[in-house]
Amino acid sequence: MNDLEGETMTEETQGAAVHPLSIHERRTLSRDGALSPERTIRCTQRGEVFVLNCLFCSHNGGIRDAGGGRRFILCDDPEANASDESVSALMTPTVLCVQRDVGVAAIVKLLLAHAISAVPVVDADGRPIGMVSKTDLVRHIGDDALSTTIAADVMTPLVYSISEQAAAANAAALMAYEGIHHLPVLSSTGRVVGIVSALDVLRWFATRAGFVIPPRDISGELGGSQCSHDT
Ligand code: SF4
Repeated sequence: MNDLEGETMTEETQGAAVHPLSIHERRTLSRDGALSPERTIRCTQRGEVFVLNCLFCSHNGGIRDAGGGRRFILCDDPEANASDESVSALMTPTVLCVQRDVGVAAIVKLLLAHAISAVPVVDADGRPIGMVSKTDLVRHIGDDALSTTIAADVMTPLVYSISEQAAAANAAALMAYEGIHHLPVLSSTGRVVGIVSALDVLRWFATRAGFVIPPRDISGELGGSQCSHDT
């Protein structure tokens, strides 16, 4: 496990304790092929905050790159010590999404390029409206109108999601009970800020059982930016 994962580790910087807070990155594919990033922090004081605004806060102590695509804001606000039992500690903080009018060919390309098996479908504000998985796409192979089929045609309407502040165990229980492999994680404003896969849950439980699990590299390449999550 990365020594900064879990968001609870504190350290001393010039006498003040700072807390590493995971940067959440949602990259959304639009119909024109652009992959737009949005980077946020879950701030104890202000809720969901854009990283750019966080950088100008008096509590900000800079950004730390922990490798493997994981980056953290260093915050010296005493209230910022987030619990490592929340979904934030379990989820993949870099998530790929698509807008509802993206064609299925572009979605297939995205899944293959990043070796992932599902993506949330989001509206213009980043709020989830469905999920497209490889299974959804396979169902439509052979359709006459496949070249004009879009995400909204093949997605499974969103049934389950979870707040990033919920207990990590709740995410595991929901996925196990409902038999789902991916769970979008939402900020306090309802936007997608991460995703939990079945593998994320296994890694989390194994780590808490005392096993040393090497950090997973979540960096990927598309337009030179970090943007992958696991299958
Ligand atoms: S530096 Fe800390 S207190 Fe300030 S906006 Fe960022 S997370 Fe919030």
